[in-house]
Amino acid sequence: SGAPPKPAELLTADDVFVSVKTTSKYHRGRLELLLDTWIANDLQHVNTVMLLCSRGAHLINTNCSAAHSRQALSCKMAAEYDAFLDADRKWFCHVDDDNYLNMGALLRLLSQYSHTQDVYIGRPSLEHPLEATETLSDAKMRKVVFWFATGGAGFCLSRGLAIKMGPWARDGAFLSTAERIRLPDDRAVGYIVGAMLGVGLTRSPLFHSHLESLALLTRVHEQVTLSYSKDERNTINIKGPFSVQQDPTR
Ligand code: UDP
Ligand code: MN
Repeated sequence: SGAPPKPAELLTADDVFVSVKTTSKYHRGRLELLLDTWIANDLQHVNTVMLLCSRGAHLINTNCSAAHSRQALSCKMAAEYDAFLDADRKWFCHVDDDNYLNMGALLRLLSQYSHTQDVYIGRPSLEHPLEATETLSDAKMRKVVFWFATGGAGFCLSRGLAIKMGPWARDGAFLSTAERIRLPDDRAVGYIVGAMLGVGLTRSPLFHSHLESLALLTRVHEQVTLSYSKDERNTINIKGPFSVQQDPTR
C-alpha cells in the first residue's frame, strides 16, 4: 500500500552478476530447464549469468569436487565470489540450479538500495540467528551469533559489502573461513557478513526456496526467486498451457 519506494539507483540487468551453482549430474535435468526459461528471457544480458561447473559459453568449470560436501560447496561459492569481484558489476546474486529468477522483480528490489552501501539481502531460513562455534588461531573456541540468507532461495550482496568481505573471502580465503566455522557455503557468507563485519541481513519475502510450501504462494509474478522440489511435489500453483505431466516443475 502507499506509493512505491523511490528508487535509490536506476539499474539494468547488466549491473547484476548472477551465478548459478550447479553440478554435472544436474546439467540435463535442471540446467536445461533454466536455459529454456529465465536464462533465455535474459539472453540479451547473458553475461549476467554464470553457470558453474558446466560446459560451453559463460560457464566456469570450477574444478571443485563434484561431491555434495561442505568443502565442495564452499569451493563453488569462493569461485562465484571471486568471479564477481573480477567483473564490473554493482550487485552479486547467487541462486541454485533449482531456482527461477525473475530479473525484473530483482532489479526493482535492488533499485531501492545503493550498491556502494553494505547490503546483504535474502530470506533467513531460521526464525532466529544461527549460533556457531568459531575456532580462533590459538585453537581457542568462541561462540558467534549471526543471521544468514538461505542459499536455496537466492541472495544478493552489494559490491560495497562484497569488497569489505575480501579478507575472509578473496582468493581462496573463503574456504579457510568456512572451515574455521565448519559451516556450509551460505552460512559461511552470513558468518563473514554478520560476525566479521557486523552487517545485518535485509530480509526479503520475495526470495523462495523449496523449504517453504510453494503452493501457498500468491502474486507469483512479483516474486524475485521461485523454486521447486519434484520429490516432495512442492511447486508453485500456476495455471498455464502445460499440464503437470508436461511441466512438473511449473
Ligand atoms: N549441488 C552441488 N553439488 C552436489 C549437489 C548439489 O553443487 O554434489 C548444488 C546443486 O546444483 C544446487 C545446490 O547445490 O544448486 C543445492 O542442491 P539440491 O537442490 O540438490 O539440494 P537441497 O539442499 O536444495 O536439498
Ligand atoms: Mn534444492
